[in-house]
Amino acid sequence: MRAGILVTGTEVLSGFISDRNGPWISARLGELGVEVIQIAIVGDRPEDLEAALGAMRDQGADLIVTSGGLGPTADDLTAEVVGRFTGRDLVLDTEMEEKIQRILENFARRLKFDAEALRESNRKQAMIPEGATAIDPAGTAPGLVVPAGDAVVVVLPGPPRELHEMWPRALAAAPARALLDRAEPFEAFSIRMFGVPESELAQALREIEDETDLGPLEITTCLRGGELITDVRHRAGEEAAVEALRKGLEARLGQWTFSESGETIGEVVAKRLEGRTVAVAESCTGGLLAGRLTDMPGASAYFRGGVVAYSNEAKAELLGVDPGMIESHGAVSPEVAEAMADGALERLGADVACAVTGIAGPDGGSEEKPVGYVCFCVKSAAGDVLPRDIVLPGDRADVRGRSVAVAMHLLRYLLEGREPPR
Ligand code: ATP
Ligand code: MG
Repeated sequence: MRAGILVTGTEVLSGFISDRNGPWISARLGELGVEVIQIAIVGDRPEDLEAALGAMRDQGADLIVTSGGLGPTADDLTAEVVGRFTGRDLVLDTEMEEKIQRILENFARRLKFDAEALRESNRKQAMIPEGATAIDPAGTAPGLVVPAGDAVVVVLPGPPRELHEMWPRALAAAPARALLDRAEPFEAFSIRMFGVPESELAQALREIEDETDLGPLEITTCLRGGELITDVRHRAGEEAAVEALRKGLEARLGQWTFSESGETIGEVVAKRLEGRTVAVAESCTGGLLAGRLTDMPGASAYFRGGVVAYSNEAKAELLGVDPGMIESHGAVSPEVAEAMADGALERLGADVACAVTGIAGPDGGSEEKPVGYVCFCVKSAAGDVLPRDIVLPGDRADVRGRSVAVAMHLLRYLLEGREPPR
């Protein structure tokens, strides 16, 4: 079962907004066992849209999913193009017209728009290719499931929230259901490590491959935000290969592994806190660490708060760092990092604190403390302390992003009561 994804919209093509639909649809299709052959992005030009549909059909796509161009305006022409592509005339779906009308009347009442004008401009949205199944809208634009010979074209709106809401309805439509029933779902999992170079993971995978046939597993490894992630996808009934891979990686690189079920570092830290509270003191990362710790719903149960302290005065006043210490060691120093952690523990009344101070660049580096030099200190009220100072590679955004990753993982090590392996 093969699929093509066609993302439409001149604003996506031009890079004005980045595509959130292609990757999302691809992940969903992957879970269903459908092989995605490509994600294409085209502007709002009918001939380009039609050419892309044709190219996907020529490549043997059994399923084509489109996003965008279902709205009421003149540049919204996906339904018309898909109608032409599948050789179906557009006909007025009166039932859908009434549904849209009811939605619009609600809108008009709330927003005080003229209902009649809205209705006129939106009648277009109830025009659907003959023989297609219309999918109830999440906004005002209905989706479409259109049979195209042996293949099926699923047409969904551009706004991601609407697309997500309509996805299950589109899959439930008979032509899509019939197609997907023939697909064999994949099982998938991911193993996440931190602090180990890609070359060592590659080496470990080669060694495991020498002992066991990993052929039935589709293994992709990638470095994301300083973390080394191994994504594995396989058909049902490959438990032996999965076991061999898991055991092999555990034996070789287990000490670097922080998640074997796809949990993020934020989720792991939240779990390891076990009722304890955490606070942060940030220079360099400017609140990004607090942001990461509060990504998860329910963060207020364990996150006490954070202080973003850039100036020396702020470090002294808000965190109680001794100005003399800043003077003698510099604002970016292991000593100041520890004093910031002490300040966060005390001022925010947390059980554990994490402090970051560093030189994100591009200016401000020196020979002794170059751009990318960052000092961390994780400390518990009980007195455990885990300090680190390292030089991180990359530009300002890289240094700040990696600092957050390092801080999160140091926090995890302290909570686990152990030192990082290297
Ligand atoms: P509408 O009725 O809102 O016009 P539509 O189906 O016609 O819906 P588009 O006009 O293509 O969709 O896009 C509407 C908006 O949805 C875009 O301006 C953008 O904010 C968002 N959007 C569309 N496509 C994408 C995408 N691929 N990734 C992220 N956002 C998108
Ligand atoms: Mg539109």
